Amino acid sequence: MNNIEQAAEFLKQEDVVAIPTETVYGLAGSAYSEKAIKKIFEVKNRPFYNPLIVHIKSIDDLAKIATNIPPLAYKLADAFWPGPLTMVLDKQDCISDLVTGGKSTVAVRLPGHPVTLELLNQLDFPLVAPSANPFNYLSPTSAHHVEEQLGDKIPYILDGGNCEKGVESTIIGFKNNTPILFRLGALSMEDIEEVAGELTVLNTSENTPDAPGMLLKHYSPTTKFCLSDNIEQSIEQYRNKRIGLITFNSTVNSNSVFYQIALSNKNDLEEAASNLFSTLHNLDKMNLDVIIAERFPDNGLGKTINDRLQRAASDSTIL
Ligand code: AMP
Ligand code: MG
Repeated sequence: MNNIEQAAEFLKQEDVVAIPTETVYGLAGSAYSEKAIKKIFEVKNRPFYNPLIVHIKSIDDLAKIATNIPPLAYKLADAFWPGPLTMVLDKQDCISDLVTGGKSTVAVRLPGHPVTLELLNQLDFPLVAPSANPFNYLSPTSAHHVEEQLGDKIPYILDGGNCEKGVESTIIGFKNNTPILFRLGALSMEDIEEVAGELTVLNTSENTPDAPGMLLKHYSPTTKFCLSDNIEQSIEQYRNKRIGLITFNSTVNSNSVFYQIALSNKNDLEEAASNLFSTLHNLDKMNLDVIIAERFPDNGLGKTINDRLQRAASDSTIL
């Protein structure tokens, strides 16, 4: 379905709609509607302490949502919006505690997808939109993924094609005008640091108050999942099992592997990131006994890929 007016109509009626963004598909509702916000949490089965990101249509709208905005936030907005950067700032009174999980701060982003920007332009309110997946499962990077996961629970899925970035936004906050990384994402740390100087990385264990919702287990397939520092050894360990293998760019010669896929044959971390969730969705449907993923290079979007693989593996094994 690709009727923007129809999607806008549901949103004006305080209902929820799945929307395409350049990162992943979101489950959107009016940021000013308690009814829509509650439905988002209910449909996703998401705990209320896990706050939502507010999506705005222009930098001019930032001051309607947030206050005490540091100059550096505007500098970053100029550099990266529309785009996959979310900033956590002090909230304005119009943003309810339901959106922020009771915190005095709000996460804001201007998304870089033409369909959703057009949708936002037809509305006189911003949208809150977490990823359009059941809580803890893989994020959706196509309208088809959303249909499979939430199709019977929501009235409309706005189809904007496959998500270009394929992983969630990078989230940062500020302390005394210095940037702090809350979540790795589709914008690399290196790109942010070029504009903002050195990023302090928040140590996000489960109960970090500044970064609620950064759960150790997240983005998980239902199939047993392993992140491996030594592929040959991991394959040997599961020799008699039905193994699915995810690599960066190489092929492994082994009869024990039932199915294998390289996320980027041309050695491109951005391409690998954009293929990550769709690959996990596909492998999760193949009745495998185990999915083994190799650890990616620790730079650029490789850091983000490793972060997601680590969380996917957290109740399984890191070998
Ligand atoms: P998503 O599930 O991709 O929509 O991302 C939402 C995430 O943004 C949450 O799980 C939090 O980690 C982060 N977030 C949202 N609002 C805040 C906030 N006020 N302070 C810190 N982190 C936030
Ligand atoms: Mg999510």
